[in-house]
Amino acid sequence: MLQKCIANGVKFHQAKVIKVIHEESKSLLICNDGVTIQATLVLDATGFSRSLVQYDKPYNPGYQVAYGILAEVEEHPFDVDKMLFMDWRDSHLKNNLEIKERNSKIPTFLYAMPFSSTRIFLEETSLVARPGLKMEDIQERMVCRLKHLGIKVKSIEEDERCVIPMGGPLPVLPQRVLGIGGTAGMVHPSTGYMVARTLAAAPIVAKSIIRYLDNEKKASGDDLSAGIWRELWPIERRRQREFFCFGMDILLKLDLEGTRRFFDAFFDLEPRYWHGFLSSRLFLPELVTFGLSLFAHASNTCRVEIMAKGTLPLATMIGNLVQDRD
Ligand SMILES: Cc1cc2nc3c(=O)[nH]c(=O)nc-3n(C[C@H](O)[C@H](O)[C@H](O)COP(=O)(O)OP(=O)(O)OC[C@H]3O[C@@H](n4cnc5c(N)ncnc54)[C@H](O)[C@@H]3O)c2cc1C
Repeated sequence: MLQKCIANGVKFHQAKVIKVIHEESKSLLICNDGVTIQATLVLDATGFSRSLVQYDKPYNPGYQVAYGILAEVEEHPFDVDKMLFMDWRDSHLKNNLEIKERNSKIPTFLYAMPFSSTRIFLEETSLVARPGLKMEDIQERMVCRLKHLGIKVKSIEEDERCVIPMGGPLPVLPQRVLGIGGTAGMVHPSTGYMVARTLAAAPIVAKSIIRYLDNEKKASGDDLSAGIWRELWPIERRRQREFFCFGMDILLKLDLEGTRRFFDAFFDLEPRYWHGFLSSRLFLPELVTFGLSLFAHASNTCRVEIMAKGTLPLATMIGNLVQDRD
C-alpha cells in the first residue's frame, strides 16, 4: 500500500496534529513540529483519541476489554483446524467463588485460535461493560481458565491489552473534517469489530473524495465535506448503527446466565442472520426480522429478560430513528 502511495505521489509528514484551522476553501493543519500543512480536505483517522472530528453529545461508550497471548504451550485441548468463538463456560471458576461471583455479574469469554498443537492464540474478553473491566481482573480469570484447561504456557511470543470504546454518539454530521475508523464511530457497537468494516469503507470514501474534488470549484469546503460525510454515514448505515447500539444496551445489562441464554438464541438463528449481524451486512428491514426471529428462538426466560431490559433501549432506538431523517 505504501509503495502504491509513493508511486502516486503521496507525500508523508510525520508529526502530531495539534489543531486545524478552516478557511473558506482550504484548511490549515498545525503540527507539533511547527510545520503547517495546507489542505483542501482533512480526513481524521486518529482512532479513539478523536483528535480533530467534533462531537456535540456526551461521549458515553461501553468498553470491550480483553487480554490476549500468542504462546508456546506444552499442549492444548483444541482442534488445530478450528477456532473457538465466545466460550462462555465458567467451569474453571468452581474453586474460586470470589472470581466466579464477579464473572457471573460481568462475564468474560475465551477466543482460541490454534496455529499448531503447541502454538496458540488465546484471548479472554469482556464483550462490553460500562465502565470497562480492569485488565488485572481479566488476566486473573484467564490464568484460572488456562489452569483448568491444562494449558501450561512455556513462553509468550506476543501479548495484547485491548480496550475498545463501543457505541456512544456519532460525530457531528456533517462537519468540515472528515473521519474514518474509530474516530468516525465505525466500531460495531455490539461486537467491537471495526477493521473489516473500515477497510470496506475506505474505497467508498476515497472514490467519494475524488468525485467531489473533481467538482471542487463548484463547492465550498463545507459543502465538499458534507457530500462525502453523506456517503460515509448514509441513512441506512446510521439506522443500522442505531440497532447495534440497541443490541449493546441489552448486552450491557445481562449477567452470565442471561448472556448465555441470549447467545443460545443468537447462534440458533439461521446463519445468514448471525453472520449478517456480526459482519454489519444486515440493514434495518432485515434487522427487524433478525430481532423478531431472535425473540422467537429465545427461551421464555430470555424473552422476559429481553422485554424487561430491552424496552427502554427499544424506545430510545425508535426515538432516535424517528428523529434522524435524511
Ligand atoms: C489488542 C487489540 C485487539 C483488537 N482486536 C480487534 C479485532 O480482532 N478485530 C477488530 O475489528 N478490531 C480489533 N481491535 C480494535 C481495532 O484495533 C481498533 O478499532 C482500530 O485499530 C481503530 O483503528 P483506527 O485506524 O480508527 O485508529 P488507530 O488504529 O488507533 O490509529 C490511530 C492513529 O492515529 C495516530 N494519531 C492519534 N492522534 C494523532 C494526532 N493528533 N496527529 C497525528 N496522528 C495521530 C495514532 O498514533 C495512531 O497511529 C483491537 C484493538 C486492540 C487494542
